[in-house]
Amino acid sequence: MTSALTPRSVKILETLRQRREADAPTHGGHVLSYVYDSGLAELDELAAEAIRIMQSVNGLDPTTFPSVAFMERDLVRFARDMLHGDSDVVGSVTSGGTESCLLAVKTARDLWRAAGRVGIPRIVAPITVHAAFAKAAHYFGLELDLVSVDGNGRVDPQALVSRFGADVALVVVSAPAYPHATLDPIATVAAAAQSAGIPCHVDACIGGWVLPWWTIDGTALPAWDFAVPGVTSISADLHKFGYAPKGASVLLHRSRDRHRAQYFATKRWPGYPVVNPTLLGSKSAGALAAAWAIVQRLGHDGFAGLAASCQRATDAVASAIADIDGLRVVGSPVGPLLAVTTDESVPEERRVDPHLWADRVRVDGWLLQQQPGISQPDGTHLPATTHLTITPVTESVLAELTAALTAAADAVRGAPRIPAEAVLAQLPEDIRVALGSLAASPGAIGSDEAFAALTALGIGSGEAPLPESMAPLLALIEALPAPLVERLLTELLARLIEP
Ligand SMILES: *Cc1c(COP(=O)(O)O)cnc(C)c1O
Repeated sequence: MTSALTPRSVKILETLRQRREADAPTHGGHVLSYVYDSGLAELDELAAEAIRIMQSVNGLDPTTFPSVAFMERDLVRFARDMLHGDSDVVGSVTSGGTESCLLAVKTARDLWRAAGRVGIPRIVAPITVHAAFAKAAHYFGLELDLVSVDGNGRVDPQALVSRFGADVALVVVSAPAYPHATLDPIATVAAAAQSAGIPCHVDACIGGWVLPWWTIDGTALPAWDFAVPGVTSISADLHKFGYAPKGASVLLHRSRDRHRAQYFATKRWPGYPVVNPTLLGSKSAGALAAAWAIVQRLGHDGFAGLAASCQRATDAVASAIADIDGLRVVGSPVGPLLAVTTDESVPEERRVDPHLWADRVRVDGWLLQQQPGISQPDGTHLPATTHLTITPVTESVLAELTAALTAAADAVRGAPRIPAEAVLAQLPEDIRVALGSLAASPGAIGSDEAFAALTALGIGSGEAPLPESMAPLLALIEALPAPLVERLLTELLARLIEP
């Protein structure tokens, strides 16, 4: 097929290949977030061919392109069976976890309003709920009411339930929550939600395609899906542990009427009647096709095998970290992801800062994800952590990975965490003053001012926008007020794509 390309096109593709070389590697297990590598080369080939076959199909209209409805029906059926839904569970394939979460919120908001209620509806959730729900609240005009968790990332279900009221349009719990892989108390919350007449969404974006085959010390998980009465919707990302290329997730609802509230339909314009279950209009059918093909290929047994591989690798990584003096895994993670923080039970000179550790691990070619500490609504503080998502390919690099994790800890053990206040204090006086005045009215910061602040902090310019050592930057993110950080990071990302 490449032979049909003109020399000019060959050159264009060559540029892409070259550019791609500077990216983090998406295969081989060295990147422990963002990418979900099954380790099966055949799946990549299968997905690529499926995308090619469906490349020009417009997923907007399943009446013109019945193959779209066929693939979606199959995926919804598979997901519903996997998540213990009966025939009253229906849903849609979306473009990803964020879209599934946005639509779960939009659906709940519209049903809340349809019941005759007015005002600003509220979403109740643990603070560990994915940021996609903050985005949904922002986009769709809801208030997000976040409940603090304990040091292990666990929420007290009664604390969530005590926030219930007539203005609550949705309660969200996660299976598991991304930051520390906590499995929220789904059965308790869903039961209380059902009695209160409040819908309950389970965000299984990351766990949906792996927890069905997960165990805790050899025993089954507590029920967390549609087997739990009161769970009204679930999101589960195909492009995570469904091993599909990016662009696919499922959102399921208990009851057709809930699903119908997800749709937008209008005939009130001079064009074709628009009936969309998702945010996009015209869209590629490629991601849907790739996800469909992979689920067909893997089936229940294939997923079970890959989940078992994830489980072995996760156990091995967790036990390697438990053996590292000065670090500990946060809480009791459920699923192939975990967060690591400083073990404060050992003397200071033996402690390992998770961000200095991740910086050091990166030097050896492994990418871990640094998560800043955060203050909670109840005044407690969740410490900074480093996140690792484990995938089947991890098993094939376990020895190398655990050796790198151990060596990096040895290299930075005893080095004190850079306290956020110290990072601020180290900044030149004029920059501190400038940041202070920007923080006073973040809404009014112009693009030039924001860029000047970034430059003064030594980030955002040149070929590499981020510093080699991320720990000080993470400390700064933790220390500065949220609106200021959000504005500066917006500037950083927007500058990256300016022509
Ligand atoms: C990844 C994730 C999301 C958001 O999904 P995207 O696919 O990145 O848009 C939502 N919730 C949880 C728990 C996730 O892990």
